[in-house]
Parts: sequence; structure tokens; C-alpha cells
Amino acid sequence: MKHYSAAVIPGDGIGPEVMEVGLSLLQSIADIHGGISFQTESFPWNCQYYREHGRMMPEDGLQRLRPFDVILLGAIGAPGVPDHISVWELILPIRRSFQQYVNLRPIKLLRGLESPLRYKQHDDLDFVVVRENTEGEYSNMGGRLHVGTPYELAVQNNVFTRYGIERIVRFSFELAKATGKTRLTAATKSNGINHSMPFWDEIVKEISSDYPDIETQLTHIDALSAFFVSRPESFDVVVASNLFGDILTDLGAAVVGGLGLAPSGNINPEKQYPSMFEPIHGSAPDIAGKGIANPIATLWSISMMLDHLGERELGKLVLDSIEDVLIAGEVRTPDIGGKATTRELGDAIREQLYRRGG
Ligand code: NAD
Ligand code: MN
Repeated sequence: MKHYSAAVIPGDGIGPEVMEVGLSLLQSIADIHGGISFQTESFPWNCQYYREHGRMMPEDGLQRLRPFDVILLGAIGAPGVPDHISVWELILPIRRSFQQYVNLRPIKLLRGLESPLRYKQHDDLDFVVVRENTEGEYSNMGGRLHVGTPYELAVQNNVFTRYGIERIVRFSFELAKATGKTRLTAATKSNGINHSMPFWDEIVKEISSDYPDIETQLTHIDALSAFFVSRPESFDVVVASNLFGDILTDLGAAVVGGLGLAPSGNINPEKQYPSMFEPIHGSAPDIAGKGIANPIATLWSISMMLDHLGERELGKLVLDSIEDVLIAGEVRTPDIGGKATTRELGDAIREQLYRRGG
């Protein structure tokens, strides 16, 4: 019997709604498999917790998460609490202190869905974005001066380290190699950003010489955004800095059906610390409480979590079950053209899981 432990942070808004479905799925997987179990513990760290305690998590929060194999996060953010507090005091400390330097975001059109890009088919939309997750544009350095005067200014420093760039770029090449892909595209902007980006480009080129079988391309972020729409079939692995990767993956999510479908893993490849899996969407205050959020992004994130734990067959079983339900087309949440609730779609996927696996 294998035991896995997961710390669960349902969060705010639709976070707890999609996480409820995620936890049922874990239970179903354990039922089907018999040889594995998940021990989960829920942590109520969210904006409500912030209102009550003046902080997003307790002082020893990170220490409490440390012993778990993995972390599952719903979504964080609520009207009335500034986003820079909810994100900077919960998600970013977890990503950074647990060295989750890889943010893995598949961009893949699932079977049964159509892309808003009219002429694109499934095979055209199947690549992965590797977002650097610990440094770059999301630095904590900078400041504001002359506040309240006409001369007020803000400076935000970008931080790019050789260590940080090398490890994310190398990871991306290794991922390409391991998955039999032949093309690596690195997002850049060295024509406009004249210190950090030329440094990034140099390191990409250095490392690419270790991978002669992989065709490496440096593409400016503005053009790259356009290519995500005009020729997505030309990508296998895309590696990008923190901000560029963040923006590119919401765009990527949109071309494969929307934010309700898009999963992610914040990964510590060395497995020295827990990795964290979460849908890339936020707490969606506009639909929170209605029970209509799409749970697929969360369930797919759990599929990625299973892959990370080495349970690849189970990860595939989850994704296959999701696709079965999409192909059947009967149970869909409103964001993908149906009338089903979060729970109904979750139940349909679990039924399919039992059918395939049980
Ligand atoms: P959002 O992702 O919450 O919502 C954007 C749009 O997508 C909304 O119209 C929403 O209804 C829709 N949407 C998102 N997830 C969906 C789902 N599962 N099913 C159906 N529709 C879905 O982004 P936002 O509105 O910019 O941000 C809302 C809050 O979430 C903010 O506080 C923001 O800071 C936070 N946020 C948190 C995370 C995170 O927890 N990692 C990520 C992004 C945004
Ligand atoms: Mn984002």
C-alpha cells in the first residue's frame, strides 16, 4: 500500500467549489486502485483568514506544509483584500521557499472541445509552456518615491540570476528530450529590454549546444503571442520568464477553450520540497457561489500531480475520463457551452473513471 499526503488549500471564491470535486476524485482514485491512499489535510488560509488574523497564513504556515508530499490549491483572492497581499503572502512564498522553480502549463486542446481558432484541430494545439516561477519580473525589489507629489515614481527591479535561468532552461530541454519533442522556443524581448533579456538569450544559446537534436528558437514575446494564435502547431516546448510565462499561458488557455480548463504544476523537480498543483484561474468572484465553475482545470491539475508522484497510469486515467465526458458532450458547465453544475460535471467524470478503471 502506498500512502501519499496532500495539503489542501481550497482558498477563496470558486476555489472551495472546485476543490470539493477534486477531493472526491482523489477518493474515487483510491477506491479504484486499492493499492494507494491519499491522506489529505485542509488549511483554511484565504482572504477570510486574512480579515480575521491580519495575515494570509500563520507564522509557521510554511513549516506546516513542508512535510506533505504535495500541495493542492484552489484559488486565492477576494474583493476587498488587495491582490498583491493575497498573492504575495501566500502563493509566492510557497512557490519560492519550496523551490518550485518550474511552473508547468500544458496547452492542449482536449478531445470533444473545439478551439475558438476556427481552423485548428487537436494535433495543432498540443504543447507545454514552462514558466520560470521564482525570480524575474516578480521580484520583491523596488520602491516608491515622492508619494503624493506630482513627481511620484515607482521602480520595480527585475532579478535574473545565472543559476535561475540555467535551471529552468535546462529543465525545458530535458522535458523536450524526455517527451520526444524536437523544438524549443524561448520567449525573449532582447530588442527592448537591454540587460536581463540578452543575458537570458546567451544562456539559452549556451545550453542549446548540449542538445543538438533539438531545434532552438528565440522569439520576441510580442511576436510569440501572435504566433500562439496564428500558428500554435509550431510549438513543442516554450520556456519563458515569470511574467512572460504568466501572460502567455492565459492566452494559451483561451485558445484551448478557456481558463476553466487550464491546469498547472508548480514543481520542485528535485523533490526536495512539496510541489503544488493548481488551476491557473483565479477565484472568479463573478461566478463564485453559483456552483457553475468548471472543475476540469482542477481535475487536470490532479492528473499532473499523479504524474509527478510517479502514478502516470492514474494520471492518464483521469485525463482520459475527462476527455470521455467532453466527447459525449452531455454534461458541460456554462463556460464550455452547457448547463451543468460544478458537481454534476465532477460526478460525470468520476463515473467515467469507475467505468474505465473499476
Ligand atoms: P479569474 O481567473 O478568477 O477569472 C477570469 C474570468 O474567467 C472570469 O470571468 C471567470 O468567471 C472565468 N473563470 C475562471 N475560472 C473559471 C472556471 N473554473 N470556470 C468557469 N469560468 C472561470 O481572474 P480574475 O478575475 O482576474 O481574478 C479574480 C481573483 O483571483 C483576483 O483576486 C486575482 O488576484 C485572483 N487570482 C488568483 C490566482 C491564483 O490563486 N493562483 C490566479 C489568478 C487570479
Ligand atoms: Mn496568471
